[in-house]
Parts: sequence; structure tokens; C-alpha cells
Amino acid sequence: MTESSKPGLSTRTIHGHSFKDAHGSPHLPVYDTTTFAFKSTADLLDVVDGRKPGSLYTRYGLNPSIFAIIFAIEETLASLEGAEMAWSFCSGMAAETALFLTHGREGIVCIGDAYGGTLELLASQLPLLGIKTDLILGRELDQLDALLAAGAKLVFFETPTNPTLELLDIRAIAAKAHAYGARVTVDNTFASPVNQRPLELGADFVVHSATKYLGGHSDLTAGVLMGSKELLMPVWNWRKNLGSMIAPATASLLARSLRTLVVRVRQQNESAQRIAEAMDRHPKVSRVYFPGLPEFPGHALAKDQMYGFGGMLTIEVAGDGEDATRVADRLKLFALAPSLGGAESLVTQPCTTTHHGLTTEERARRGISDAMLRLSVGLEDAEDLIADLEQALG
Ligand code: PLP
Repeated sequence: MTESSKPGLSTRTIHGHSFKDAHGSPHLPVYDTTTFAFKSTADLLDVVDGRKPGSLYTRYGLNPSIFAIIFAIEETLASLEGAEMAWSFCSGMAAETALFLTHGREGIVCIGDAYGGTLELLASQLPLLGIKTDLILGRELDQLDALLAAGAKLVFFETPTNPTLELLDIRAIAAKAHAYGARVTVDNTFASPVNQRPLELGADFVVHSATKYLGGHSDLTAGVLMGSKELLMPVWNWRKNLGSMIAPATASLLARSLRTLVVRVRQQNESAQRIAEAMDRHPKVSRVYFPGLPEFPGHALAKDQMYGFGGMLTIEVAGDGEDATRVADRLKLFALAPSLGGAESLVTQPCTTTHHGLTTEERARRGISDAMLRLSVGLEDAEDLIADLEQALG
């Protein structure tokens, strides 16, 4: 996709919010306090009853840093994703939980692979509350009509997916879901708003584990949910009473990180492309999963619905799971850790981490082999990362 004529993404990450600090501080100050004193009961009731704005209690979001920092984060993210509103949470799972409990009670369909915690919540936990959930694979999309006709009102998916980087067509799925009166959520964590903006393509919600690219330094845990005001307002009480508000100090770190989001992600895209091409030529790599490779099955769709191909790729080592483990253990710059989106490159063997809880048969059904290694490309020099992979493969 090509960018529109709005101010550029980098400009919006720096100036995309209305908050201005009274003292001129370019970085927003943190109030780490939990409660706020009033001069009189009448003043307190004005805030409690919503007649006047004011600070009251941090978990409600009524805290000066939350007004300042979270409004700044939320306005910036809303501007990046083209959303009317964006709300921050204490984790990506907290954002998903509040969304599912608000808008998923009539039934949720999850398409394709998703983060293990999301799959567990959908497959094992929400059904305990009487919420009907159905999990289908990307190649089983022909089942979507029947599930929507049966009453499911929320469709959820990631694209590109983890770890096979499968591309799902946001426009087509949104059109189908809307025809049945259902809403669509895209978990945009892997792509980030720099590379993909699902709301522009018809999705109703975007959710992020801000722990990943938005935070970008492996030093904060947070989540963000975006969409229209009408759809987000009912989520407010769930966030308040589930206790899933972002902490002021975390919000401050996230506001700092957003200013460098665009340069970080574009650099990671570029390095991932170079690494994918080098791995594609390597005799000890049997397959590379990366949307930026012309022969990759999702390449055409990625070109159509993404602005960049992302910093995540998966390689399949020629050999078996033990060969892949040996490669992972020999890597020096890629740290063996199950996360993504940080400044440092990470490697994960899905069968030992993210997809360890699935049976071998279920992994095979999902196209996840033991010989796969998922790479999150960081901000080191691409040639050093390629050299690290070559020494480990050698
Ligand atoms: N979505 C994706 C794609 C993830 O990878 C993760 C975590 O790894 C989550 C959601 C959950 O986010 P968090 O760990 O911030 O709760």
C-alpha cells in the first residue's frame, strides 16, 4: 500500500497529541500516586459524579499522569492507526480480555494461528463463562459463514500469524463479518501501525501487545485497544473493574517509545528483508517464511494490505528439531527468548516455547514443524546478524 497525504507517520508519533506540559518538558511527567485529596466533599462529589474533570483514583485512570501521558499515548496511537479512540491497558492480554468480555459474549470466531495466551483464553477459559468460541485455521475460512450465521458476533485474528507468517485478507474477512452484523478485531502486534493499519481496511478494532514493537525495548508490559468511540466506551467499565489500567510509569515509558517507533520498525523491516534473502540462499535452511520474499505465498496480499513486510521471520533448518535446537543454542547475537519487537534480536523455537503446549499432531496440523526457528530482528547491524546465523548454521 502507499501512504496517504496526512502528516507523515514520524511527525504524528512526535506531534500526534494535544498534551503540552506546563513547564515545557518535552517528556511527560509521572505522578506515581494512587489517590488524590479534595478540599471538600462537594469538590469530591463533582469529580465522582463527572460534573468536573479531576484526579481521584489511579485505577480509574483519574490521575494527572494518566490524563497527560495516557491521553498522549492514546491520541498518538489513534492517529497512527486511524482510530477515533485508543485505550491503554496493563498488558496485551488485559486489552483482549476486556474486549472479549464487552463485545464477544454472543460468540467469538478466531481465525488462524494466534498467540498461545489468546488461544488458551479462547479455547479453555471463556467457555467456562458460557461464551461460545470457535477456532478455525486460515485454510478453513469456508466455515466462517456458518459460524457467523449461527450467531458469532466477534471475529478475531492476527496477520501475519505466528510463527508461519500466514497472511489473512483483512478486507475480505471484514466484508463477510459485516454482512452478518459481526465486528472484526485484528491483533496488529506483529506488523505494528507502521506496517499495517487494519481499520483502514475495514476492521472494527485493533489490539496490540504494546510489550512488543510499540514498547520496543523489552522493558515494559502494556496493551492497547483501538476503534470507534461508540465501540470503545462500553469497554471502559470492564477495564476499570477488571483492574487492567496501565500504570503511570509504564505509560510514560510507552510514550517515550512511541517517538522512535517509525525509525525502529523501518530499520527492522530492512534488516529482516536482508536476513530473509540471505537465509533463502543458505544450503542449511530448507524454507524461509517471510512476506517480503516474492515466492512466499502471502507476498501479493502483503503488498496489497501492508506498508512494510515487518521484522519477524521464521526459518526451517534443514534437518530435525534437534538440529534447530543446536542452531538456536549456538546463536550469539540472537538471544534465546520468547518475545519480539525489541531492540535486541531474539530467537525462539516454537515447539519448545510458544507452541510447546500443543500436541505434535496439532502443531503439524497448523504447519508448525520442530525444525522451525522464529526470529525477531532487532536493531543490530544486519550483516552482523547474518554472520551470527551463518556461524550457528555452519
Ligand atoms: N498478541 C500477540 C501477537 C503476542 O505475541 C502477545 C504476547 O506475546 C500477546 C498478544 C499478549 O501480550 P502481553 O504479553 O503484553 O499480554
